[in-house]
Amino acid sequence: MRKVGIFNSIHVKFVLIYVLLILLALQIIGLYFSRGLETTLKNNFTNSIKDRISLVEFSVREEMLKERPSDDPSLETSLRTVLSGFSSDDIIEIRVIDSKYRILATSLFDHQKTMIGQKSTDDMVKRAVVSETSPLPVILYNKEKRERVQKSTHPIMNGNEVIGALYVESNIEKVFQQIDQINRILAGGAAVSLTITIIIGIFIAQTFTRPISDMRRQAQAMAKGNYSRKVRVYGNDEMGQLAIAFNHLTNQLLESQSTTEAERRKLASVLENMTDGVISTDRKGRVSLINDSALGMLRMTSDLVLNRPINNILGIEKEYSFEDLIEMRESIPLDFSTEDEPSILRATFSVTQRETGFVNGLIIVLHDNTEQEKIEMERREFVSNVSHELRTPLTTMRSYLEALAEGAWRNEDIAPAFLNVTQTETERMIRLVNDLLKLSRMDSNEYELDTEWVDFNTFFNSIIDRFEFSKSQEVSFRRIVPPVDLFVEIDTDKLTQVIDNIISNALKYSPDGGIVRFNVAVLEDSIRVSISDEGLGIPAANVNRIFDRFFRSDKARSRAMGGTGLGLAIAKEMISAHGGKIWAHSVEGEGTSIFFTLPYEQHDDGEWDV
Ligand code: ADP
Repeated sequence: MRKVGIFNSIHVKFVLIYVLLILLALQIIGLYFSRGLETTLKNNFTNSIKDRISLVEFSVREEMLKERPSDDPSLETSLRTVLSGFSSDDIIEIRVIDSKYRILATSLFDHQKTMIGQKSTDDMVKRAVVSETSPLPVILYNKEKRERVQKSTHPIMNGNEVIGALYVESNIEKVFQQIDQINRILAGGAAVSLTITIIIGIFIAQTFTRPISDMRRQAQAMAKGNYSRKVRVYGNDEMGQLAIAFNHLTNQLLESQSTTEAERRKLASVLENMTDGVISTDRKGRVSLINDSALGMLRMTSDLVLNRPINNILGIEKEYSFEDLIEMRESIPLDFSTEDEPSILRATFSVTQRETGFVNGLIIVLHDNTEQEKIEMERREFVSNVSHELRTPLTTMRSYLEALAEGAWRNEDIAPAFLNVTQTETERMIRLVNDLLKLSRMDSNEYELDTEWVDFNTFFNSIIDRFEFSKSQEVSFRRIVPPVDLFVEIDTDKLTQVIDNIISNALKYSPDGGIVRFNVAVLEDSIRVSISDEGLGIPAANVNRIFDRFFRSDKARSRAMGGTGLGLAIAKEMISAHGGKIWAHSVEGEGTSIFFTLPYEQHDDGEWDV
């Protein structure tokens, strides 16, 4: 938050306003007081001069009305005597002037020789004589002496007749000095009171601004997420009430903040633990949030995804614009498969909008459909395989039956052979259907293992013996089986089918004179059985696929030998139902080994591994 400048602070503003108001009050008081004082003192001075001048006027009139010859110089002398009797500190000069404006006498010695008998040109003298009243005194400034002088004139009346006038210059400077002195005292007092009021003002302002500053700091702390701070309540006035309300607000905010935070955490944990991917965008379609599942599905990191357009992230920018996605009501499939890993996603779009309808963004839910797609693909493949497998013998049978129907049945040489083919094909179909039923039962877990404890060596040898006695090829058998009892809990019927299938395959693919080896090894917690032949082998790329349904490495040969392509798939299901594993090892041109394990617990100290 921006710092408040010193002249912008309420504290300083308050003190400034306060001081200015007091200053204004002092100014008005001072002005009024000094004006009043000046007027009063000046009036007092003028009145005191006036009082004394009336006495002078009386004495002068007496002298002027005395009968004496006109050229009698004793008038001037006697007037001078009268004037000297009234000399004082504040009266500088008194002049006596007759009605013809001739100066008869002056109290100032320096002027006596030069002025006596002269005509007075002073305007105020003339006005006093003409108007028969005293004009208002005027104050002049004497530059030489640097003092103010009050000039006044007074008519000398004899009844109603003006017989002359008195011209008085009085020293009023003292009055002004007195006013200045009083003003100085007043200014000093004002300065002291101003200083005191400023100090008081600062303290008073603090009582207002301190809670406000406190609240400002609190608001700043809240903006940074600190809700633990509290504003101090200084009293129960409006400020105190405001502080209480502020603290209440802080508590409310803290509560809603923690509720929001808890909701946010809940949402984040829901998003993170969802197996579906969730992406949200802003209103321009740029990714603003993405959970780990979505990142995993898109094989991206969050820094590569955030703020990028959603249609670009989903790789659909050519087909759909962001506006199209907003309108999208159906989910769309997305293929993110790589060469090594298939990945089919399904994206569902929903728009987040305000009540006004303003679009805030888009929420995209990504569902991993790979497994379903795979199952669906396998299902389609399976149906097509089954149809194919059934169609081949049926087509063969139809052509043979047609030939028989067209008359071949009469031919004793051909008819048995044709019937034999249809019988073989029918048997192959029965085998196929039986195998399919077995697999279907296993897939739907509709079967139970009918287990019993048997010695595996005895069991295994009896199956090998059966093949050894009935074999029609030039193939020799070699058994490497430990000469001990290996008791395992197995469903003998099902395991017989597995071993039968593996041995028949070994015999099918063995060349004349080849050796089929049978081996049983005891491992830590299992026995490992292997049946190896010296046949054609299987190309490396196909080795792991021979356990898939209908997979045939060598199609023509397998079919010719009556195989359904389901034998090893059934074997795999059965071995895993026993808790074991089955796998193949094959080198093309050298031979194939099929291994499987069965759970086995050793009961004695002996351990066999041959
Ligand atoms: P089939 O009925 O075709 O034998 P299986 O499920 O038993 O079906 O075997 C699947 C495929 O695995 C066979 O078609 C064959 O190509 C291959 N296969 C199985 N065993 C051997 C073996 N011992 N030597 C060579 N190829 C084999």
